[in-house]
Amino acid sequence: MSKGNILFIDTVHPYLQEALQQHGFTCVDGYHLSKAEICSDWKAYIGIVIRSRFKIDQEFLNAASGLKFIARAGAGMENIDVSKAISMGVMCLNAPEGNRNAVAEQAMGMLLALNNHLLRADREVREDIWLREENRGWELEGKTIGIIGFGNTGSAFAKKLTGFDAHVLTYDPYLQISPDDFPHVRQSDIIELFDHCDVLSMHVPLTEETRYMVNDDFLNSFKKPIRFINTSRGKVVDTGALVRAMESGRVLGAALDVIEYESVSFENLDNSELPEPMRYLINSDRTVLTPHIAGWTHESHLKISQVLAEKIIRLFQ
Ligand code: NAD
Repeated sequence: MSKGNILFIDTVHPYLQEALQQHGFTCVDGYHLSKAEICSDWKAYIGIVIRSRFKIDQEFLNAASGLKFIARAGAGMENIDVSKAISMGVMCLNAPEGNRNAVAEQAMGMLLALNNHLLRADREVREDIWLREENRGWELEGKTIGIIGFGNTGSAFAKKLTGFDAHVLTYDPYLQISPDDFPHVRQSDIIELFDHCDVLSMHVPLTEETRYMVNDDFLNSFKKPIRFINTSRGKVVDTGALVRAMESGRVLGAALDVIEYESVSFENLDNSELPEPMRYLINSDRTVLTPHIAGWTHESHLKISQVLAEKIIRLFQ
């Protein structure tokens, strides 16, 4: 007898369906179904698997009688009304362990590309332009790297920095970091980051507290000009403020994998006309921009499914 039906709203690595089916669950493909269709014809699913195709809000949860879990194939939970789900006894699972290494490697790659002008220099060489002084690089050795949010991706990024002989400071008021686990990292308050950072990397979830956390006041607080990395969520940053800081020289360069103007599904920028700050970022040669792919590697595709399979199977033991 089946242990219950699980609806897959988005595609994920096939490992997850195979593992769940082996453990007696029935997996149903719902990739083609709209949110309205699922709500109006709810088939007593015990679980849903979703990446980011639509929001799991109160309306959806009210229609989903008998739901026992929501599995998010990724890390961020801002598109799920987690408190409503928990109040209804629905477990919310995610898989940050599956893509933290991917995010850390990309953050490292973007930072090095920025510091050594790799994108611009490559473009110039292809155009038969050979400029050495203009493309002189900037080293990480001896510099201070600030990491805001020291969960899965922040700590994975810190790990990548071990070989660079840089000072690493982190600000995460919700976590006590053990010096035994991270001897090269110092947990600090935000003031210490403002005072010492040469590079700042954001690794926080999008919450009411972190929405537009990186604004004019925040960027004006740094004592030195910084290089800025964001692989967390676009709306953690007020892009207009970031552009103002780049124009004034307080931010020397920005590496952004996530953009304030992304659609809810992360599949494209919002359809409306490109805002002025976005045009600035696109036209600047002091930016490295990628389309929300930091956590999106061949390896993380599989690892996310493995992590979720383990969590779901454990839930029903
Ligand atoms: P996580 O939950 O493991 O860690 C987040 C950390 O941020 C936690 O330790 C938390 O205490 C801390 N935090 C929360 N609010 C804070 C605040 N106001 N100031 C300082 N620290 C705060 O999450 P994670 O796996 O590290 O991922 C972080 C976010 O990155 C995710 O929520 C997601 O939105 C995003 N992400 C993006 C990609 C991508 O492809 N670009 C991939 C994975 C995750």
